[in-house]
Amino acid sequence: MAIRRAELVRRARRVRAVVLDVDGVLTDAQLIYGPRGEALKSFSARDGFAIKLAQREGITVGLLSGRVAAPVRARARDLGIPPRLVVQGSGAKADDLRRLAARLGLDLAAVAFVGDDLPDLPALAIAGLAACPADAAAEVRERCHHVCVAPGGHGAVREVIALVLEAQGRWQGLVEAARSGTLRVGHSDRRRSKGDGRDDRA
Ligand SMILES: [Mg+2]
Repeated sequence: MAIRRAELVRRARRVRAVVLDVDGVLTDAQLIYGPRGEALKSFSARDGFAIKLAQREGITVGLLSGRVAAPVRARARDLGIPPRLVVQGSGAKADDLRRLAARLGLDLAAVAFVGDDLPDLPALAIAGLAACPADAAAEVRERCHHVCVAPGGHGAVREVIALVLEAQGRWQGLVEAARSGTLRVGHSDRRRSKGDGRDDRA
């Protein structure tokens, strides 16, 4: 479902929230098992920095995963993503994306979703901007408005955020601020957000 650049920019301009699948999007889809059977995940610091940039520019970032894993909570905490915007164990991603949008008071046209595999298709179908990493499943690639050049866990998220901020005329200013040493992006690493009391462990 490749769309013209002008249509892509039009969709990206409306985005106020970017919701990300985790495995295969924020990670390269590898699940590394530790000695006690716990799954370890690796994340891209560059994707993380782009998420901080998006938040600084007033774009909300949320996570929507079919699995449940402790590293996701830790990564969300490091990125300053509040627990109410972290959905794990989702069995119906379109419903959960709708719920997230409602929670933010946003129309789905203002929500971008990035996914990589079949369970993401329903959410991709309703998101204002549907994007996937370069190495997403073929069935997903053909249903997205934008297929990234970068693969999952290696810059795809940064690419989508840059696309959104660029369409909104804000990316170049950020690059220039970085060049001149005036770009300030808060690091909330290890910040223990109490959120609103909700918890995603249920
Ligand atoms: Mg996935």
